[in-house]
Amino acid sequence: MRILVVEDEKHIASFIKQGLKEEGYAVDVAHDGEEGYFFAGTEKYDLIVLDIMLPKIDGVTVCKNLRKDKITTPILMLTAKDVVEDKVMGLDAGAEDYLTKPFAFKEFLARVRVLLRRKETLVSSKLQVADLVVDLLSHKVTRSGKEIPLTTKEFLLLEYLMRRTGEVVTRTDISECVWDIHFSTTTNIIDVHIHELRRKIDDGYKKRLICTVRGRGYMVKG
Ligand code: CA
Repeated sequence: MRILVVEDEKHIASFIKQGLKEEGYAVDVAHDGEEGYFFAGTEKYDLIVLDIMLPKIDGVTVCKNLRKDKITTPILMLTAKDVVEDKVMGLDAGAEDYLTKPFAFKEFLARVRVLLRRKETLVSSKLQVADLVVDLLSHKVTRSGKEIPLTTKEFLLLEYLMRRTGEVVTRTDISECVWDIHFSTTTNIIDVHIHELRRKIDDGYKKRLICTVRGRGYMVKG
């Protein structure tokens, strides 16, 4: 994993670089917007940490230009003040996330991990939990190599649950993301689909991957 840090304040840049290196990431540092834009366009990075206030070209412009150049590397913006306009501007420019300085390195690392993970699932056309594999391109689902036929709705439901592996997913989450806005919450259609999905995915296997979290919702667990 290779990360580009674009930050003109030398002590912050070296603090971030040192911390990321200790976590095992490869890190390059650019000290102004021009250099950052150049590095981001010529080298391959898994993530760019981009300060907004930069000499030569500001971070928001760098971000906009990178997106214009079709460079889709996730960008974590750093803002000096907790100013809403800065955040909105950053996100509008195509950044995935932002963090206000000063920040705790622990929080910074957590954001970095989320963005890198998100990138992996975007790049990869497959989702996998234990021996269950969902191919997002061919829409083929297999468990232990055996193909499991699903309906379109069941597939979408499973994809959604697997994208949030390890998290509790509520019925409201499911209704908003898998069903459309005309969905009536009074019906038990979600439970019916979950029941059917579980029958297909988990029946006959020792390890159940789709779990019920009593009173809260469902969770896919490897
Ligand atoms: Ca700065």
